[in-house]
Amino acid sequence: MSGIVGYNGHKNSITMVMDGLNALEYRGYDSAGIAYQTCNRVEIIKINGKLKSLKNKIKNNITTNLGLGHIRWATSGRPSVINAHPHHIGKFTIVHNGIIENYMALKKILENENYKFKSETDTEVIAALLDKLYSEKNDILKVLNQIKKLLVGTYAIALICDDIPEAIYAIKKDSPLLIGYGNNENFIVSDLPAMLKHTKKYSVLSNNDIAEIKDKINIYNEKLEIIPKDILTYDGDIETAEKNGYEHFMLKEIYEEPKVIKNIVRPFLKFGAESLNNLPDFTHYQRLILVGSGSAYNAGLIGKKIIEKYSNFPISVERSSEFRYSDIYLDKNTLVIFISQSGETIDTLASLKKVKEENIPNLAIVNIMASSIAREADKVIDLKAGPEVAVTTTKAFLSQIAILSLMALNSAYKTKKISSKELDKIINDFEKLPKVLEETIDLNYKNIAKILAKNSVCFYTGRGIDYALSMEGALKLKEIAYINSICDPAGELKHSTISLINNKTPVIGVITDKKIASKTISNIKEVKARGAFVILIVTDNITEDLSCADRIIKVPTGNDFTQSIIATIPLQLISYETAKILKHNIDKPKNLAKAVIVE
Ligand code: GLU
Repeated sequence: MSGIVGYNGHKNSITMVMDGLNALEYRGYDSAGIAYQTCNRVEIIKINGKLKSLKNKIKNNITTNLGLGHIRWATSGRPSVINAHPHHIGKFTIVHNGIIENYMALKKILENENYKFKSETDTEVIAALLDKLYSEKNDILKVLNQIKKLLVGTYAIALICDDIPEAIYAIKKDSPLLIGYGNNENFIVSDLPAMLKHTKKYSVLSNNDIAEIKDKINIYNEKLEIIPKDILTYDGDIETAEKNGYEHFMLKEIYEEPKVIKNIVRPFLKFGAESLNNLPDFTHYQRLILVGSGSAYNAGLIGKKIIEKYSNFPISVERSSEFRYSDIYLDKNTLVIFISQSGETIDTLASLKKVKEENIPNLAIVNIMASSIAREADKVIDLKAGPEVAVTTTKAFLSQIAILSLMALNSAYKTKKISSKELDKIINDFEKLPKVLEETIDLNYKNIAKILAKNSVCFYTGRGIDYALSMEGALKLKEIAYINSICDPAGELKHSTISLINNKTPVIGVITDKKIASKTISNIKEVKARGAFVILIVTDNITEDLSCADRIIKVPTGNDFTQSIIATIPLQLISYETAKILKHNIDKPKNLAKAVIVE
């Protein structure tokens, strides 16, 4: 969510910072700005809106080798030019991601010291506080050390001090910042794509570090000693961050799903049962809790259904934002699994910290191994979905379900709930899965989209795992098509939602579980009788009478461990096609951001 880019090197810092900001656009933002050093002065340019207008405001032929850029996702104060970053007070120019919770109290103190504020942001308060502390101490490192103790909340801050024009300084707390080591040039960024064109060598800044980015990089600890930092090398390719001819990143990422599934599944299945041992084993726990937000929560719901069919311990799924403040009872026999695409979701990170404080076993499933959650967790599984640029998750979500399915398979086999022969058959199905996904992607979803695009509401429903899948279908439609989509378990419709059914209200039923198909169909008939326009997503092994449906999408039948992976494709593509008809900004839906790093 929002993004920071800092550059200090031999090239033009405006070009480099703008390049970096462009690469971070996917994170979602409402305004942007840049600050650069020129003739020993800091110039600031800010806009409300898109990066293109920032570019248009910058004059050519400026010589500058040091600069800071920011895309803002407003939290304190509405999106506007004044509230956009960078902010400048006294000797300090700063950009900031996150939220300072005690900024109003700090602001009062600073106002009493005659600091005047132009913006409504918490960020400007940080700038003023830096200036005040610096006027007392005149030592930037001591000031940064001290301010860390005064700020309550989460932040990534990069700054320039007028007295030290040759450096950028940065500190962070629970908000990501990476340092990039180039050839005679150094970077500080919120996420790797912002510098990948120029360097693949980077370090991850920790909460206690103070970074000094000059012609060389120094990292200081709390005692203000220079400390060594691991330098990592990004081993992916950068073209995954390009559209490659697809109209939208979302579509490209859906088309990548067969390959992603192949890559994620292979290491765990290539040598049969033996390879399953590469997965964390939860058979010796007595309870499992899956924690996530948004789609990751839905992945947890799906995972729960698959795991519980073959296990004999309780499993629950919790939303991160609720879990972190809950009084939930935890003990050492419980494994808590944290699911996050970005690995930075602030509520999931806070939930993980809560669990760690109590020494409860934990495991993270993330797509970014350099992320805070990956570094905090006892054990980590890499989703290996590659960079996902569209704000709405597709391939990383599918990877999450695949990992949970494989873990369920491992547990089922270990506890002898499935035999070796059954395992062989399931592995064979997984091998064929990429091909099956390709076929499912190629089905026609446009006709359904045309119907949904004419409506402002839509209901999703299903039972069991089909309810969990429906939850993701409804979320996707909300996210990118801005349709008010509500999801209820099929048996619950008549308890309230049925009162909202009018003539031709679209109701999408998901039916992949043959065992309870007839029950779901009965519930669908109840809404049909009240005028609903019924769309069914069903597996091709369902033989029940489907004459209640106005439209049917038939998807290939899988087994207990592959079915939800297959059935997710229509949910993603129906939303995509609907958003496309409605001409929405599919890759960057309004008000949403890719990595939710604010509470
Ligand atoms: N809280 C700051 C603001 O509202 C930073 C928001 C962000 O992360 O972009 O300006």
